Amino acid sequence: MTEPSSSTLIVTIDGPAGSGKSTVARQVARQLGLYFLDTGAMYRGVAAAVLEAGMDPADHDAVAEFAADLDLRFGNEDPPHLTVNGVDLTHRLRDADVTRAVSDIAANACVRRMLVRAQRLIGQDKGRLVTEGRDQGSVVFCEAQVKLYLDAAPPIRARRRALQLREAGKPADETKILQQILYRDERDRTRADGPLVCPENATCIDTSDMTLDQVIEAVIAHVRAEGERSA
Ligand code: C5P
Repeated sequence: MTEPSSSTLIVTIDGPAGSGKSTVARQVARQLGLYFLDTGAMYRGVAAAVLEAGMDPADHDAVAEFAADLDLRFGNEDPPHLTVNGVDLTHRLRDADVTRAVSDIAANACVRRMLVRAQRLIGQDKGRLVTEGRDQGSVVFCEAQVKLYLDAAPPIRARRRALQLREAGKPADETKILQQILYRDERDRTRADGPLVCPENATCIDTSDMTLDQVIEAVIAHVRAEGERSA
């Protein structure tokens, strides 16, 4: 089997909350030796900084002005830490208040513009990467060689998120998580700017009945097939 031959390689994995895209993207990047970009962490980083500053996440103008001065950086750890203006906020990213606030932050057009620009710069700098989020194949990297869209039934996504939180030693109420997932799906799919869609030319994979290993295998097979096509 050949790996994709071009010197740059962008693999986008889009999908809703709890579709498994973060875990899959991280593992695929590791196995193929590509950089991994978690764009959800960037929106969560802005949300965490807004809350730490005591601001209202729904105050669009104040958040836009505040976000313009933020410097977000990923470290070299695995998984990478996220610092915002030099402060490591990694431990805050999955907290319930940040998860509640992040939809407002993601619907803020100024924040989106700033983060889309930052993501494209990371793409240019790294060259070969797997990037995951809600708009990576549809907006940020429209020219990506490989575009995937992962989905799963909402109750299955809620169960996966609950397991993930419990594994991290955090409390998890599956019913509440399902409500949050449905709320975030609705907001992500209906916002005017960069809504969650299955990107044009993307391969959609319903992971409801698949194990994590099966999804990783399917994605890697897809990336390799693309490499053979373009070799
Ligand atoms: O993937 P994760 O759950 O960490 O993303 C957190 C939130 O950030 C999502 O609910 C979504 O509102 C937003 N997001 C986005 N665009 C991305 C990545 C995340 O709008 N590319």
